[in-house]
Amino acid sequence: MATDGPQPAKKIKLQHNSLRQNALFGMGNPLLDICAVVDKDFLDKFEELVKKFKVEYYAGGSTQNSVKVAQWMIQQPHKVATFFGCIGKDKFGDILKKKAEEAHVDAHYYEQNEQPTGTCAACITGDNRSLVANLAAANCYNKERHLDQKENWQLVEKAKVYYIAGFFITVSTESILKVANHVSENNKILGLNLSAPFISQFFKEDLMKIIPYVDILFGNETEAATFAREQGFETEDIKEIAKKAQSLPKVNEKRQRVIVFTQGKEDTIMATADNVTTFPVIDIKQDEIVDTNGAGDAFVGGFLSQLVHDQPLEKCIQAGHYAANVIIRRSGCTFPEAPDFH
Ligand code: ADP
Ligand code: MG
Repeated sequence: MATDGPQPAKKIKLQHNSLRQNALFGMGNPLLDICAVVDKDFLDKFEELVKKFKVEYYAGGSTQNSVKVAQWMIQQPHKVATFFGCIGKDKFGDILKKKAEEAHVDAHYYEQNEQPTGTCAACITGDNRSLVANLAAANCYNKERHLDQKENWQLVEKAKVYYIAGFFITVSTESILKVANHVSENNKILGLNLSAPFISQFFKEDLMKIIPYVDILFGNETEAATFAREQGFETEDIKEIAKKAQSLPKVNEKRQRVIVFTQGKEDTIMATADNVTTFPVIDIKQDEIVDTNGAGDAFVGGFLSQLVHDQPLEKCIQAGHYAANVIIRRSGCTFPEAPDFH
């Protein structure tokens, strides 16, 4: 065999395989999404849902959706994505474990007996979806009993990219801050999502404790607008909001913050220290859209899949648009066998 270095094709393969297991760390609220097509009167009678109607289960929860999509985009090796969250010791918990395994995500759940596994019921009546989230066990994530445990923390340390949806702020800000400190001290990358307007409004103090550690801040247009209002930015222009969020104080000054705001079918906005850029989304006939729920989660998943590969931000956004486009053509945050993204 020649010893004068690998052929170009081989080089690509080597680069690909160099991606280590547990390189991407996610922590959040694991929820079992229960999708049912129901009649209108039914929405109140949530309890009966599972018994009475045709239901489908999806392993859900915002962060878990994103890391699953990232792992799907990455494909090989398996278990590049790690996920932490809290579930109950019950049937739904078993389903979540099985689904994570099928998605090749390395899920390490904190399992406890006090609360049942959290659920998110999506009741579909025609074009309308009503979401009823019941965090239950997801709300019981415990830093001392899980994150601080030696074997779990070792998994945290293995990662180079970290992602946490803002929803988790309602559960364990101390866990987020522990991870955030590790990220900053080691000059790694932390992504956070604004997740929903109520996070900026009612969890403002905790959110603003975390923001100084955030390297990449994600959100959609309504979340960006609410964040701006709550922070007194005095502008409704999304590019201006992105600029102002970009320049908020930062702990690790070696890494400049990046802001990424999606806006449904409108252009995605990215603000870096140097400029604000817009990126058109992938065109789709509106009647080909099956379900836009989880579009934002999928976008982040695609984005992260390239970020762990050290790809440029433009490529990360392209991958985000690709993943979101795939997911909105399907019911739930689901995807086909393999991606077609290069
Ligand atoms: P969220 O689910 O957080 O509200 P968005 O609605 O901004 O997120 O959607 C995220 C991404 O999903 C968009 O950047 C785009 O790529 C895709 N997307 C969502 N809705 C549409 C749409 N109506 N047409 C085309 N692409 C869409
Ligand atoms: Mg939207």
